Amino acid sequence: MNYIPTIGLEIHAELLTQTKMFCSCLNDPTEITPNKNVCPICMGHPGTLPVPNKKVIEYVIRTGLALNCDINKHSKFDRKNYFYPDLPKAYQISQYDLPFCKDGYMVLPQSGKKIRIRRIHLEEDTAKLQHGGPSTSSGQPASLVDFNRAGVPLMELVTEPDFHSADEVVEFAQEFQLILRYLGVSDGDMEKGHLRLEANISVAPADAKELGTKVEIKNINSFRFMKAGIEYEIARHTKLYEEGKEEKVVQETRGWNEQKQETFSQRSKEEAHDYRYFPEPDIPPFDFADDYIEELRNSIAELPQQRRERYASEYNLSEKQTDALVQDPAYADFFEEAISELRELVPNAPVDLVYNYLMSDIRGIEVQKAVSLQHMPLKPVHLAFITAQILQDKISSRTAKDVLLKVYKTGDDPDSIIRQEGLAQISDLSELEKIVADVCAANPSVVEEYKSGKTAVLQFLVGKVMAQTKGRANPAQVKTLLEKFEQG
Ligand code: ADP
Ligand code: MG
Ligand code: ZN
Repeated sequence: MNYIPTIGLEIHAELLTQTKMFCSCLNDPTEITPNKNVCPICMGHPGTLPVPNKKVIEYVIRTGLALNCDINKHSKFDRKNYFYPDLPKAYQISQYDLPFCKDGYMVLPQSGKKIRIRRIHLEEDTAKLQHGGPSTSSGQPASLVDFNRAGVPLMELVTEPDFHSADEVVEFAQEFQLILRYLGVSDGDMEKGHLRLEANISVAPADAKELGTKVEIKNINSFRFMKAGIEYEIARHTKLYEEGKEEKVVQETRGWNEQKQETFSQRSKEEAHDYRYFPEPDIPPFDFADDYIEELRNSIAELPQQRRERYASEYNLSEKQTDALVQDPAYADFFEEAISELRELVPNAPVDLVYNYLMSDIRGIEVQKAVSLQHMPLKPVHLAFITAQILQDKISSRTAKDVLLKVYKTGDDPDSIIRQEGLAQISDLSELEKIVADVCAANPSVVEEYKSGKTAVLQFLVGKVMAQTKGRANPAQVKTLLEKFEQG
């Protein structure tokens, strides 16, 4: 018997607006002083009134449009009631039956599979609890509440159960994260909890008419953990089915034990909440005009998949190279600008040199010096000039690396660096011939070896000439000269 795994995803993303969702407090996830960005509204004091942040609603609708959703032109907020110390009002303002976005889909970039999106709605985030610190009054362990996060806009996306492997789920989540970044609506940082995933997993015999009983893994904070957790659950369910013990798969919430690399039961269905949703009486419902939605649709810039397709037709890059650029919009923008500058200097120049210097040398500088690409004095026009110099045999590729580093340090024009420091490649053949002769004279035994047929030693002599010229010679030219010299 064959068993088919099925997975559905729920994803929460904190949105990157200036202020919170219903008050003017700063929405600053980097704030480390507890309870700094708070006011009576986000602390849930009686008698306060929430005022929706227009920007937040735009962010959600733009995300929905980017994911092919229908927008509910008539929509509203609802109260989701439950008690927990991180929720000061004892209800969360959320959306129940009229989410801003519904019925969308994503085509997975690798596998081409279509995953349906059930809904995307908006809700407010809760405060943060910190357990176990000592209380100031008693010195006993206590739980502390930090309301900086209370009322921060939180978007929730729910997919249909359309995934059949952990890899598909990871692919979706990674592309969603990238789309959020392209839209500029969230930084999608999982480690910081700005993107939080929940996976619902079930397994059923291939010929079953209905899906199996699902379990939910909550608080997933990395793609690695998501893949491992889902695969663990699929294996656990499948084994129970194979042993005829499928009744042991119960609907429950499970957590992930990183040490043991296994899931464990946290909460069973019996403890499930009844949230007693009802419409939020303090916020009037919304009626969005078609023009408003179209305006938002038109404000969406290029999305990752569109960029991949454009790169495939515009540049002769491998799939892997394209993906590395698309993953990182700052690098992709730098690349495009550098190519366009380069092609002003060298029409139809190949893109490889720019790609390699950008993704290895410049990225290396970024990592080593911890300076982001946008803040470097090194600009696309500089990289374009340097690569043009290589393509025109004016500097060696060895020199190019040094010039890049100098532009990075000083912000000086590469042209003047090359001239002032005498880094231009030696183009005077007689000068080079003289150095070749000197090197051969200084290494007679190596020359003998070469003449006796050990052609591999030529590389040693090339190295000597390159050292003498401080990298300013063209290695291919040196090689030719050496061969000529030793034959004649
Ligand atoms: P609940 O009412 O228990 O929250 P929903 O039907 O609202 O369940 O679905 C929540 C998430 O679980 C969705 O992402 C959905 O795709 C997924 N899901 C629902 N049923 C299953 C199932 N049998 N197996 C896997 N995922 C499922
Ligand atoms: Mg759920
Ligand atoms: Zn506030």
